[in-house]
Amino acid sequence: METIIRVQNCFYGKCMVANRSLDIGTIVEKYEGLIVGWEEVPLNEICHVLLVSDKNWMIISTDARYINHSCDPNCIINDSLEVITTRPVKKDEELTVRYNIVHKNENPGAWDPRWSFRCLCGSSACQGHVNKYINEDGSEWKPSLDVNLNHNVINDTPIKIE
Ligand SMILES: [Zn+2]
Repeated sequence: METIIRVQNCFYGKCMVANRSLDIGTIVEKYEGLIVGWEEVPLNEICHVLLVSDKNWMIISTDARYINHSCDPNCIINDSLEVITTRPVKKDEELTVRYNIVHKNENPGAWDPRWSFRCLCGSSACQGHVNKYINEDGSEWKPSLDVNLNHNVINDTPIKIE
């Protein structure tokens, strides 16, 4: 099978790039791994976990762990934890998701300061210091009383650039 992506070294660590041009809607990777409670996350994985549902965190075992953050990403994570392009991607372009976005009715809980990092995405909309959750409109996310805590939350990953 043709490999459409690869992990390589970028100037800030490992990253995932496209081996060829990709259409919008292409599945490029999938988040898989052990699901644990927050208190079971090993210290060295704190910055590499994905919140998959209320209080359940994934220790990512696939190459999805090398997908870096961008404030203007070219991929999203869908309900099946697949990484899908949201715009056409050029050959050798880096694949990114936004780690700290909170979608409607999601409640990710508190931001852990250990996830904070200085963003190097270079986008004109760059948040700079990524140190909090934000809403889709770019405003700071705050817990509200009317969120449904029982639905499956797909939270973008608080993984740090390595
Ligand atoms: Zn940025």
